[in-house]
Amino acid sequence: MSRYLSEKYGDLVPYTPGEQPKDRRYLKLNTNESPFPPSPKAIAAAAEAAGTLQLYSDPECARLREALAEVCGVGAENVVCSNGSDEILDFAFMAFCDAKRPAVFPDITYGFYAVFAERNGVPYRKIPLTEDFRVDPADYAGNDATIFIANPNAPTGLYLTPDDVERIVRQNPDCVVVIDEAYIDFGGESAAPLVKRYDNLLVTGTFSKSRSMAGARLGFGIAAPGLIRDLDTIRYSSNPYNVNAMTMAAGVAALADEAYTRGNCRVIAENRAWTQAELRRLGFTVTDSRANFVFAAHPRAAGRVLFAKLRERGILVRRWDAPRIDDHLRITVGTREQMATLIGAMQEILEELL
Ligand code: PMP
Repeated sequence: MSRYLSEKYGDLVPYTPGEQPKDRRYLKLNTNESPFPPSPKAIAAAAEAAGTLQLYSDPECARLREALAEVCGVGAENVVCSNGSDEILDFAFMAFCDAKRPAVFPDITYGFYAVFAERNGVPYRKIPLTEDFRVDPADYAGNDATIFIANPNAPTGLYLTPDDVERIVRQNPDCVVVIDEAYIDFGGESAAPLVKRYDNLLVTGTFSKSRSMAGARLGFGIAAPGLIRDLDTIRYSSNPYNVNAMTMAAGVAALADEAYTRGNCRVIAENRAWTQAELRRLGFTVTDSRANFVFAAHPRAAGRVLFAKLRERGILVRRWDAPRIDDHLRITVGTREQMATLIGAMQEILEELL
């Protein structure tokens, strides 16, 4: 830290993204990227948009918002676009939280929520997941706070139905409820249509996972027009051109190729089921993940050791030195070949260890 850094950031501990090492080629199963390239239509649209980069991008993201509205079953006035969904989540912390309106989120969830809270000077409280890692909607009543829940949750992969989400939203009519649906397309039903009935629900989504566009940085929020206007106040006060022209064009084209996205999600769901079954055969306990990752622990092998031995073999997964989950690994679901490589390596490692 230099002596010039503002005191208010003196204790800020930034988010640690999954490692992106350059020392050798790894099988990267650590950041929940798609193993498939973006839709060919998205690639072509981005290339075409590159020819007009002398112009600023559309600050209203009009075409993209219309396309998203159609896919999500809402109106364009219900949509705001962002530079990755991290940005819309950050905007939500800025817009809907302060010293009088703290944030609450599960004790085990996406690590960026705590960082956004810290950076925005927002007090926050963590609500423990149940013993079996579930979000219990009853735990979210009467907190008088802005609620952030990833659904499916990360890194557990466990999923709340739209009925569960509705219960949380209905229990908290005076609080904003943010449902982060980064992984919804891999086996869940979106709560987005509920924004037509509840003015306190914000659903966030991303093109980084099911639409294979993590490097393009495209996210969005779906909510009643009042919340969208608040988020736009923050957006126009930060960066009105937050979505660049190539990304915007690629996003519109990707939405016009939903069959490609759905096909990829189906393959990932099949590979997830295969990987979960294989891990169980090797003695792991595995959560019922609905996301593009599995979350697993072995009763007789420490997570730290498994992580290190996989890395030695060129396979990167994710693990946290955190209470309750330090023996778990979060493993991104890739192609069947990649998953077979992982399972083969895991089997060898366990034979060596046990
Ligand atoms: N929410 C969750 C639960 C995530 O895991 C991620 C990905 N790290 C994000 C949001 C943000 O993804 P992006 O900014 O790429 O849309």
